[in-house]
Amino acid sequence: MKLLRRGVATLLGFGLLGTAVSVAAPGPGAPGIGDPYFPLAGNGGYDVSHYDISLKYQPKTDLLTGTTTILAKASQELSSFNLDFLLKVTSVKVNNEPAEFTTDGGELKVTPKTAVADDEDLVVVVTYSDTPAKYRLDGKEGWVRTPTGALAAREPNIAPWWFPSNNHPLDKATHDVNIAVPAGLTAVSNGLLTVAGFPLAGGLVRWHWRSTEPQAGHVTFLAIGKYDLKTSTTPSGLPFVRAYGSDLGADGPAAKASVERTPEIVGVLSKYFGPYPFEAQGGVVDSKMPIGALETQTRPIYPTNMFSVGAVPSVVAHEMAHQWFGNSVSVAAWRDIWLAEGFATYAQFLWSESQGDGTAAELAQYLYELFPTGHPAWSEPPGDPGSGLFTWGIYNRGAMTLQALRTAVGDKVFFSILRTWAAEHRGGNANTADFIALAKRLAGKDLDSLFAAWLDASSKPAVGPNGPGKAAKATAKPKSVDSILKHQHPLSPKGLK
Ligand SMILES: [Zn+2]
Repeated sequence: MKLLRRGVATLLGFGLLGTAVSVAAPGPGAPGIGDPYFPLAGNGGYDVSHYDISLKYQPKTDLLTGTTTILAKASQELSSFNLDFLLKVTSVKVNNEPAEFTTDGGELKVTPKTAVADDEDLVVVVTYSDTPAKYRLDGKEGWVRTPTGALAAREPNIAPWWFPSNNHPLDKATHDVNIAVPAGLTAVSNGLLTVAGFPLAGGLVRWHWRSTEPQAGHVTFLAIGKYDLKTSTTPSGLPFVRAYGSDLGADGPAAKASVERTPEIVGVLSKYFGPYPFEAQGGVVDSKMPIGALETQTRPIYPTNMFSVGAVPSVVAHEMAHQWFGNSVSVAAWRDIWLAEGFATYAQFLWSESQGDGTAAELAQYLYELFPTGHPAWSEPPGDPGSGLFTWGIYNRGAMTLQALRTAVGDKVFFSILRTWAAEHRGGNANTADFIALAKRLAGKDLDSLFAAWLDASSKPAVGPNGPGKAAKATAKPKSVDSILKHQHPLSPKGLK
């Protein structure tokens, strides 16, 4: 689109002025990055490399005061550009010059004093002060007040409630999150803990977290409250930082028993997927988590009641698998979400297989037979789930798609595909067509009809995930199937994400 606009301008210039010099005027950056499901998600015209987020939060009043500094580079000439943000803004500076701004329904439009040149480095400083809990985006809340603090943790949007951003997985960046909260409270975010409760004037303490790897807005979280913070080092040498709410109650021990196994689970997953892609591991357990578990980068958040049945390491396997699939290899558009959820569900199959609780083949076959013809798992193809995103299809049928691929290409090629996928797109984005192309390249054969049947058709594939024949029939209910299904969105309102 950028090229087309320039091309037209150049032609006009040639016709009117008799010269090939472009007369293109800087235009506004698009208010969306081009996601077919969410036209206003993200923005056009620039690419962010880093967010420096400096905040102060008062839980009693929900007052959040902040300054976010955004380092970006323009990808076109810009007369104005948008950021995704809900809160009331007090000032915006672009390259140290005050800029004009307007806010409207989650879009912060910034008009710099002088137009931005293509390829120009941008330093955008936004200051703000507001009470985030009152806002909704697409009818959903993203900032939830809790008895001792607040939680910013929701999919597919978290960022607009606490920092202005280019809020789409296509524009990932590193982050510094620096926050002052009343003494006695802990503020938790992603990545490395660099300052832990440093005393400030006025009865405040400062917490600072740093994400050194590219991170999308929808997995950048903030949890403020009374937490028991535990830090140690994983066997692989990474910081392992987890925060347990002070009010976990009867489910607390099972929650902790599950999350404490994170490094062990990551070790098992690494054997299948290749090296863990991030700088830290961890987890947060909070009884007020408004949705199910969420794969926030390096440090998933789990609701306490997810563990009411006892320890569920399978949930940890799901959320930590997202660190490879969904967080390191991010979707290029939200339509591709099965590349995150189908893979994370398949990781639960692999975890089950590693624990002797049922093989991936048995689980895939059991689910294939469990869902009758006409079930949403079949009528809602994972290749195009719609803007509701979290359908039956993206989880179970997505995982069955991978089992069908494993059946078609054999274990050696299958795991090579998964590892190559994680390595080639590490820290980046990819779509379903990229995955199919990789699978065909490594398998050396045409797999189009397999993917069409499993990802695109609105009907139950005629052949199950283990291929035709007697051996493909499920014999018994795998031991792990209940723990996989029970915690899965949308079966349970407190399901997985
Ligand atoms: Zn998930």
